[in-house]
Amino acid sequence: MSGIVSEIKCKNCSAPLNMNPGEIVSTCRYCGYTAVVGADEPFQLEHSLILNNNNAASVENALRDWMREGFMKPGDLAKKSKILSLEVRYLPFWLVPIEAASTYEGVLERISPPSPRKGVINRDYDWLVLGRKGAQFPTRDYTVPDTGKIPFDFKRIDAGAKFLNSEMTSEEAVQHAREEVDVNQRFLAKQEIDQITSFNTNFKVNKPTYIHAPIWFITYEYKGRSYNALLDGSSGMVLRADIPQTDFKMI
Ligand SMILES: [Zn+2]
Repeated sequence: MSGIVSEIKCKNCSAPLNMNPGEIVSTCRYCGYTAVVGADEPFQLEHSLILNNNNAASVENALRDWMREGFMKPGDLAKKSKILSLEVRYLPFWLVPIEAASTYEGVLERISPPSPRKGVINRDYDWLVLGRKGAQFPTRDYTVPDTGKIPFDFKRIDAGAKFLNSEMTSEEAVQHAREEVDVNQRFLAKQEIDQITSFNTNFKVNKPTYIHAPIWFITYEYKGRSYNALLDGSSGMVLRADIPQTDFKMI
C-alpha cells in the first residue's frame, strides 16, 4: 500500500479519501462509504455516529463549572483560567460485545487457615476500544451513549471538525478487547481469592460496531502554564481534565 495520501480513492464514488499515514479504515466524505483500505469488499460492520450536542460556548461553560467544583482545585481556577484552544474531533471507536466465562482456582488467604477455592466468573461486556494507536484516551471513563446514536452520516458532522479514521482493523480491536476483558476478569477473581493458581477465560465475541463519537479537546492556561481537558460532545460531561497543582503549605 502506498503512503501517498492523494492516491487513495473511494471505491464507491472515486472521490479522493483524506487519509493520514497509519489509518486503515476509510470513510468517504462524499458518499459515506466505509472500507478497510486495501480490502476489496465493502465494510460489513455497523457504522454509527454519536451526535454532537455542544458548541464552543457550552463546552467552555461546562469546563468552568468543573473548575468551580471539588476541593482539590485552586479557588480561583474558574476565574483566572483562559481557554487557549477548543475543538471537536470525531474519534473512531470499536464497541465489542463480549461474553466472558473465566474459571479460576486458587487460595483464599484472608481467612485462617487458608483454604483452596475455585469458581466461575461470567460477565457480558460492551467493551470499548479506541481505534487509534498510542493515543491516550480514558476509554474506561467513557460510555457510548444510547441516545443520539444514528447510522453514520457525514452530513451530521460539524463542518470543519477534525475527523479521525481507525488505525486498527476490527480483528485487532477484538484482540485488544479480549486482552483487556481478561485483565478485568482476573481483577474480579482477585476479589474472591488471594492467590490464583489457575485461570482460564472462554470468550464469545459478537459483531463489533464501528462508532465515531465527538470529543472536545481543550487546552487552558492557568498562571502561565497550559493544561488539557477532554469533554464528551454528546453529554457535555468533562471526561478528564488536568488539575493545576496547588501549593499545599505544610502548616
Ligand atoms: Zn465515496
